[in-house]
Amino acid sequence: MNTKCAECDGPINVPNDVIVGEIVSCRDCGVEYEVSEIRGGVALLKPAETVEEDWGE
Ligand SMILES: [Zn+2]
Repeated sequence: MNTKCAECDGPINVPNDVIVGEIVSCRDCGVEYEVSEIRGGVALLKPAETVEEDWGE
């Protein structure tokens, strides 16, 4: 299924078997989204929380 990027209005390809909580990213602007809900075959996205990993450098 396809959905649209809220940032740049570009198309985002979402796998047909996508699950809630999966992260997808916009190929055009690189923004990451989390699938918040799947309703009627349409994936609703919300901006992904960017977790800063502490690699202990
Ligand atoms: Zn975008």
